[in-house]
Amino acid sequence: MIPPVQSKLPHVGTTIFTIMSGLANQHHAINLGQGFPDYSMSEELMNKVNEVMHKGWNQYVPMQGYMPLRESIAEKAEFLYGTKIFPDTQITITPGGTYAIYTALTTILQPGDEVIVFEPAYDSYIPNIEINGAVPVLIDLQFPEYKIDWNEVRNRITSKTRTIMLNTPHNPTGAVLGEEDMKQLQSIVKDTNIFILSDEVYEHLIFDNIPHQSILRYPDLLERSFVCFSFGKTYNCTGWKLGYCITSPELMVEFRKVHQFNAFCCHTPSQVALAEFLKNKEAYLSLSGMMQQKRDYFVQLMKQTKFDLLNSSGSYFICAKYDRISDEGDKDFAVRITKEFGVATIPVSSFYKTGTDNKVVRFCFSKKNETLEAAVERLVKI
Ligand code: PMP
Ligand code: GLN
Repeated sequence: MIPPVQSKLPHVGTTIFTIMSGLANQHHAINLGQGFPDYSMSEELMNKVNEVMHKGWNQYVPMQGYMPLRESIAEKAEFLYGTKIFPDTQITITPGGTYAIYTALTTILQPGDEVIVFEPAYDSYIPNIEINGAVPVLIDLQFPEYKIDWNEVRNRITSKTRTIMLNTPHNPTGAVLGEEDMKQLQSIVKDTNIFILSDEVYEHLIFDNIPHQSILRYPDLLERSFVCFSFGKTYNCTGWKLGYCITSPELMVEFRKVHQFNAFCCHTPSQVALAEFLKNKEAYLSLSGMMQQKRDYFVQLMKQTKFDLLNSSGSYFICAKYDRISDEGDKDFAVRITKEFGVATIPVSSFYKTGTDNKVVRFCFSKKNETLEAAVERLVKI
């Protein structure tokens, strides 16, 4: 007899990314759902990994991550955000951004703690909170700009509030935080015991010359924050699952206690290769221009369709209303257009635990121009 499992996540099914990519494969649809590029990553970086493997970089690196990589990250952070970060005590390399977020939440949350989450929210946040026995406190971003209502944040803070979660540039909406948001955040957390978890995996994918409001720019916020990044997004290699977390030395001691008994350390050859590759500023500085061109091209193409695109200032994503086409719920609509028209998207209500359905689907535009053209050729028929 198989002993029954008492589920730690009783309300969770399969992620919407898995469902929509599965459906896309089954129906040979063009996949503008799950966020990953369909163009190649850097040849130079791939060759570098190969080269270091042949040089023997195939055993464990230290638990905190390969030191020259942490040094390169610290240099880059200081160059971009003007803050000195100590690579030995403030940076840990992780197997992806999702893992960094999970580890940070596990480090700080106790059962019954409250965590403020803005919805729509990246799908891992709420399960990560709940698996730690903590309670998500859900606040809708203001539709359709997806801005934070800071007055509501103030109203929802209680003596149990332990963490506020941020994500800029934002998945799924492409909204970005501005300087005023950071001022509001500073004034709210000052003299409290509230931590911040800042998901900045799209730090380099921000458009229209808007500066990325990294927590790393604000030392008073950084000391209470876990800031999470992903190399997968930066270097078009989402399958590498490599990222990192930056925090204060005090919080990093506790983060590493959790990390060392989970992954312990990450893939060695990619860390050794990235340590050098990160010094190439052009490789990450050119990203926003390249991705902005893709956004603009997609926006232009979509004018031929009955979708009404919302604004996207960053990330891989842009959302679209479809009320000129149908009044179906977004999940039914997304499934139907995958099956009938051969284009997969992500229904945005999947990012709301509250079930809010603004009748919006998310498109991923980090694709070859031919892919975007082929998808729009199908979407004009709807
Ligand atoms: N946060 C957000 C908002 C994301 O979109 C992603 C992308 N998958 C991640 C975290 C996780 O990145 P990784 O694949 O490195 O775990
Ligand atoms: N971040 C990607 C997205 O939002 C997918 C990640 C995943 O499949 N878990 O589409």
